[in-house]
Amino acid sequence: MKSPSIFRRLKKTLLYSGYRVILTDRFARRKGGMARGSKGYILPDDLAIFINKTIGVNDRVITLVHELLHEIYPEWQEQRVDRSSKRIFNHLTVPQLGFLQYFVMLPAEIKAMLKSNQLSPACW
Ligand SMILES: [Zn+2]
Repeated sequence: MKSPSIFRRLKKTLLYSGYRVILTDRFARRKGGMARGSKGYILPDDLAIFINKTIGVNDRVITLVHELLHEIYPEWQEQRVDRSSKRIFNHLTVPQLGFLQYFVMLPAEIKAMLKSNQLSPACW
């Protein structure tokens, strides 16, 4: 992708900020969460990022990037976060995409992927 530094920041935030990524299909309204859309939201007080597990894997990756951008750039408006998350997604390399997919895939999906020997995430 064009700016490797933004991916590095996303990765660092994902690995070292203490955030948990939680896949769920329950989108109850909760206090303190930013951007409570139908795809995902972040609860900074709980260090939790909720992702809708009923949407496609790549949509989940975009959502994860979106929520991480809220954490990294709290001053950004929703529109900018939205535009940036899609642009970042479109410029991910295959290993970068695979790294992010791992966080938003259900165990059964990872198992199925390994079983079918389609080790490259690009096969999705
Ligand atoms: Zn948002």
